[in-house]
Amino acid sequence: MPTYDFKCNQCGHRFSLVTSISGRKNAVCPECASREVTQLLTGFFYARPGGDGAAASSGGSCSGGSCSSCSGC
Ligand SMILES: [Zn+2]
Repeated sequence: MPTYDFKCNQCGHRFSLVTSISGRKNAVCPECASREVTQLLTGFFYARPGGDGAAASSGGSCSGGSCSSCSGC
């Protein structure tokens, strides 16, 4: 599922949720439990951990077998 970033309108806390499209509508601030949260567009552009972006950046320095997060080299 995609990751969505939110900012709380009440306390300003920023947080991320891994949820479905329908679930993001029910996002609640983990700090103050406010439902007044704004979805940040940055979530659409972030590469997920272990995704293509991370694999490409770490692949160059991986000497083979020593990279715990890489199973392909
Ligand atoms: Zn809050």
